[in-house]
Parts: sequence; C-alpha cells; structure tokens
Amino acid sequence: MNVSDVVRTSAALDGFTEKCGVVGVYGHPEAANLAYLGLCALQHRGQEAAGIVSSDGHVLVSHRGMGLVADVFREDIVRRLRGDAAIGHNRYSTAGASHLKNAQPLVVEYGRGGLAVAHNGNLVNAEELRERLEARGSIFQSTVDSEVIIHLIAASQGETLEDRVVEALREVRGAYSLVFLSTDKLIGVRDPHGFRPLVLGRVKGAYVLASETCALDLMDATYEREVEPGEVVVLSEAGLSSYKPFAPEAPTKCIFEYIYFARPDSTVFGRSVYRTRKELGHQLARESPVEADIVVPVPDSGVPAAIGYAEESGIPFEMGLIRNHYVGRTFIEPQDAIRHFGVKVKLNAQREVLAGKRVIVVDDSIVRGTTSRKIVKMIRDAGAREVHMRISSPPTTSPCYYGIDTPNRSELIASSHDVEEIRRYITADTLAYLSEEGMYAFLGGKQSGFCDACFTGRYPVPFEDHAKHRQLVLFDAAEER
Ligand code: AMP
Repeated sequence: MNVSDVVRTSAALDGFTEKCGVVGVYGHPEAANLAYLGLCALQHRGQEAAGIVSSDGHVLVSHRGMGLVADVFREDIVRRLRGDAAIGHNRYSTAGASHLKNAQPLVVEYGRGGLAVAHNGNLVNAEELRERLEARGSIFQSTVDSEVIIHLIAASQGETLEDRVVEALREVRGAYSLVFLSTDKLIGVRDPHGFRPLVLGRVKGAYVLASETCALDLMDATYEREVEPGEVVVLSEAGLSSYKPFAPEAPTKCIFEYIYFARPDSTVFGRSVYRTRKELGHQLARESPVEADIVVPVPDSGVPAAIGYAEESGIPFEMGLIRNHYVGRTFIEPQDAIRHFGVKVKLNAQREVLAGKRVIVVDDSIVRGTTSRKIVKMIRDAGAREVHMRISSPPTTSPCYYGIDTPNRSELIASSHDVEEIRRYITADTLAYLSEEGMYAFLGGKQSGFCDACFTGRYPVPFEDHAKHRQLVLFDAAEER
C-alpha cells in the first residue's frame, strides 16, 4: 500500500459518530449479490463508504470503497466476491476527513484465520480499551471503535469463534448490532440494551441478517424475527444456534430510529416506522393545532408525520417543497451567491402551491436550526402569507453517544434556546414541538424501553469524554478524498 507520510494533524476522523447499516447472508449461492441488494436498501443509513466481505469456506474476499453502494460495486466486483456467505456495511460519518481505512467491514488475519466485522452503533468505552490494548502492543489500523473488538477477539483464548466473540463483547459497553464472518461461520449480535435494530430473515433456505426489514424486502427474504437484545445468533453448517450469554439489561431501543433514521417502509423493534410517524403527526395536530390552508411536509423525512397532521386537522396535504433525489453530499457552489443555496440544491419551494397561503410545515426534527430557517425563508419567498412550523418530536437537546450522528451539544439549537427563541431564529410565525408524553402516547408510555437521551439528556449507559478522540494520521495518497 502506498501509505504516504504523516500528512495531517487537522481534525481527521474520529470514528465515533457513526450511523450505519449492516447485512449478513449465510447459505446462499449468491451471498454477495444479496448483501449488495441489502446494502442498497440500507443506503439511507450511510452514504460515505460501503463494503462487502464474502467467504467461500476457505478464504475471505473483501471489497470496500468510498461512496454509494451502486458506485462502489460493479458487476465484476460482486462476481469476484464468491462463496455462499457474506457480510456488508454502509458507513456514514461527518467528523473530519473520509477515508477508506475507516470503511467496514474490517477484515483481519489473526492466529485462527480470517475474520471480518461490520458494526452499527457506537462503543462508549472504546478509547479506554484501545489504550489498554496499545499498552500491550496492539497496533491499530483505523480510528473506528469497532477495531477494538477485533483485537479483543484475537487476544481471547476461547475455543470457538462464538466463545471469543462473547469474551470480547463482555469488555465493551455501548451500542452495537454486529455481524462477524469467518470462513465457516456468520455471527450476529445485538447489545444487551438493544439500542440499534437487527432482524433475521430467510430466503430459499438461507439466513439473512439486516439492520432493517426494508433490506429483507429487496433480498426477497421473509421476516422471521428480531435478533433479541443480548442475543448471539450463530449461522454455520449446523444451522442456526442462539445464545444469551450476557447479563440482561433494561432495554433502551433508540427512539430516533422511529423519528428520523429508519426507512418508513421498515418494521423496527416490531412496529411499522411509517405508521409510527403518522401517529406522531396525528398527536402533533391534537397538541398544537393552528388555523391554516395547507399542510406541507419537509421531504422526505417529514412526509408521514405531515400526512398524519393533515388527516387529524382536516387541512389539505400539499407538496409545497419538492426534493431533488439526485444530488449527493458534495456539490460545486456557484461563485455568485444564490440565496439559500445549500437547501435549494435539495429542496425547491413551489410558488404554485404556496402563494397567498397560510402554511403548516412539518419536519421530524430541528438539529442546528439552519435548515428550518432556510426553509421558512424559501416558503415566504414563494409567497406564503404565514408559516407555522410543526416538529414531530420533542426538542433535540442532547448529543447521541450510541450511534446516531448528532453534532456537539453547543451546536444543538435546543440545548441552549427555548422554543420562542428558536421560533425567532427560524423566523416562523409559530413553532411547536411534539411533547415527550405525546411521543410516547403511541409507543406504550415512557416505561416502554426506549433510549430518548437526545430529547431528555437521560443517558442509559455512561460514556467517555469525547475530547480523547483519535485522529487518523496516516493517509494513503491514492485513496484520499
Ligand atoms: P438542521 O438544519 O441542523 O436543524 O437540520 C434539520 C434537518 O436535519 C431535519 O430536516 C432533519 O430531518 C434532519 N436530521 C435530523 N437528524 C439528523 C441526523 N442525525 N443526520 C442528518 N440529518 C438529520
């Protein structure tokens, strides 16, 4: 590998703010192809990098690349990923530089053969473990927290791979839905709190694992069940075996999967995401009605809640904002300033629909507030008479340490401003968020086993000081973007 000199000290990648998608396929002659389809369906969970590792029973074959799944994998590459087992990963990370070294699945050769791992979630004690492992001589290749799991597995004296995986995972804390692949086994694990989803399906006698059921649909697999919190599922020639080796914990499933992150056509934690979002919209309309002419969603994430709001209020639903689905994360800005450019690339306000109207705009969340501010201006510029912003979740006050990418607390507008101050900032006529009680009304009440730290600051698993984040200091000149 052409590893260039130590080139950077600037904020590179800390690898700790990831929201990702994982898939696994066992016992199918087109395992890599199915994994590819699964990753395509999970593209919303990560657009920065994608990778698949397959096994033909003797060797592991890997391909990873930066970018969208369809760009990373060409037909000839998928064909080279031979064998009847495969795992795959979509990665998303916003902090600092993107780099292939941090793409997953991570693949290693250690004393017992080859091993690959793909991780969705975030380990809260990764730095502490890494320091301990480095003191013992471990050499790390990346800054992703999941690499500590590989080192712990390599150091384990456990007899079987599942023994070693369990021994390693006893040391880590935090959120993880993991898939491991060796030459002869595929193992899926969900952390004892069950922060992130992981489901099991079947297709033509083969087993598949995926972050969300929308991936099963594209793989033509039938949904069997969720991998349960704390469950270890081992797929091998002997079929499926399941273990519960960890001490049980109170479940803390991520509520933000329902609010924003998961695809609406998925069933997450046993509940339809679409129906849940619509119900949140109904509740929002009951809690915060306002006289208006039309209900307009911020597409795509605000659509189901806006449908619910419109149904409940009886105010017509209109697509006043149209999304361009073909622009990626990077685009070349024109030299002459265009008003609201960043948002306009993705969303356009329709004068035809909005002019002269009193508009209720529905979105799922406000993070920094910059998008909402630009959207309100765009809608006014398109001739709206009044703009009423409605948000189908409570104020996002606290960062996530369990795998959803949110900015620092200081950048979260609701961490330091009340609703009236935020209303003034985004320049809406009125602003209302869904209440915490309202959010739980459809989800079985506050005691129903969710992590809502982003809205309440109640963190179910203590986390480390993130100031210690690592920076990647070796860059491959050929790979750098
Ligand atoms: P902001 O301008 O920072 O307030 O962004 C608000 C928008 O970001 C809303 O339309 C949300 O749908 C969306 N959003 C919420 N959470 C996230 C996340 N973790 N990553 C990316 N976008 C998000």
